[in-house]
Amino acid sequence: MGFSPLMDYRAVSAGKTTCAALVEEALTRAGQAADLNMFIELFSESARAQAAAVDARLAAGDSLPLAGMVVALKDNFCYRGHRVSAGSKMLETFESLFSATAVERLEAAGAVFLGRTNCDEFAMGSSNETSYYGPVRNPLDPSKVPGGSSGGSAAAVAAGLCHVALGSDTGGSIRQPAAFTGIVGMKPTYGRISRHGLIAYASSFDQIGPFAHTLEDAAAVLEIMSGADAFDATVSSRPVVSSPPIAPIGPQRYAYFQATLDHPGLDPHIRASLENLFEQLRSAGHTVDAVDFPYLDQLVPLYYVLTTAEASANLARYDGVRFGHRSEQEVDDLDGLLKASRSEGFGLEVQRRILLGTFVLSSGYYDAYYGKAQKGRRLLRDHAESLLASYDALLSPTSPHTAFPIGRENSDPTVMYLEDLYTVHANLTGLPALSLPGGLHPNGLPWGLHITTGRFEEPALFAHAALLQNTLSAH
Ligand code: GLN
Repeated sequence: MGFSPLMDYRAVSAGKTTCAALVEEALTRAGQAADLNMFIELFSESARAQAAAVDARLAAGDSLPLAGMVVALKDNFCYRGHRVSAGSKMLETFESLFSATAVERLEAAGAVFLGRTNCDEFAMGSSNETSYYGPVRNPLDPSKVPGGSSGGSAAAVAAGLCHVALGSDTGGSIRQPAAFTGIVGMKPTYGRISRHGLIAYASSFDQIGPFAHTLEDAAAVLEIMSGADAFDATVSSRPVVSSPPIAPIGPQRYAYFQATLDHPGLDPHIRASLENLFEQLRSAGHTVDAVDFPYLDQLVPLYYVLTTAEASANLARYDGVRFGHRSEQEVDDLDGLLKASRSEGFGLEVQRRILLGTFVLSSGYYDAYYGKAQKGRRLLRDHAESLLASYDALLSPTSPHTAFPIGRENSDPTVMYLEDLYTVHANLTGLPALSLPGGLHPNGLPWGLHITTGRFEEPALFAHAALLQNTLSAH
């Protein structure tokens, strides 16, 4: 299936089309693609009203940097007066009273919100199959998953329904679905974008980021969303200037972990394509060094100990009393009500993680699991920082393979957890990372090239992505 992207949003400011026309086109396309289950809800009415307001402001002479940009929101972004459910029965009828800071900033810049996209429940998953609203189908091959957890957002951009979609990335939820759908997906540095109004999964990992067809569009929205916010004390006030991304001049220094290429789970074609890319970079005068990385097998366990611990705390608020689904079963005490409400409201994967997180935090096991994992995280971060003092960027595959079939045998949850092998490093270390379409596998599906740079070096991340995109396309 071929999909043409929507007309460039810049055509609206240039007077070549209207925001209203772009929104109508997007709504029509979304209606035609309904069977892929990408949207939980289209915001048809508010999107039309926003579009009319953007057109009126432009007619009055205002200039809006993102005028006409059609944006889809993952179903974990609060948007005033709209429902937000985190893909869960728990929040099925919850309506937000305020907008996330990232959403407000995009709106103020002239973006229009098309709807909320399907995702794994509470952003826990790598295939979009844990959603209460059913799986999303990959527009490139509807028998395959789009990746997760931000599967609907990735699919909506790939299918040409919107210019940009927002996702959240705790362990790869933007980059892996971007790789599976052949688009750009970017996770900024931890602390770059306010999470105010993002439904929390694991707060020391969660970051907001964009999906887009081009590096330019991803950089443009990153710039608008970034920066200090009184509602989120973790945000840095450092300015971000990242657009437009231009490839750096002169020889660059790249590193990759030999262990990532040697991993038995890595698809042989993806491995060969990366080795090929490294050779091309070397012959263009760049350095590409293999470096030792003794911690590859520890990444996924570290990630799951720490994120489940944080999730068990973050999800405690959904008790059916203050928030969320309340059971109608006959119960005679508060404990019974909480138990019934949480058992009915949360799906199995979310329940598994709450239990695991509660276990690793329990007295007697805290030091052995949570405490030890914190030390491991520190070690990884120091290792990555010293490496990035001598190299410009770190390269790897985004995912060990291309998109896999919906309904793949799933009796062992740790098989799904290994999907995150190459992406959790950036969340454990807090570093910014981007997945760039690497090319097509002989099976017809795209694979992703993963690029990591130093803390708050998003401009360099986009610049290296531009260089690598040029190298890949020259091939
Ligand atoms: N697949 C990972 C998980 O299930 C990452 C999810 C995410 O980044 N939100 O936790």
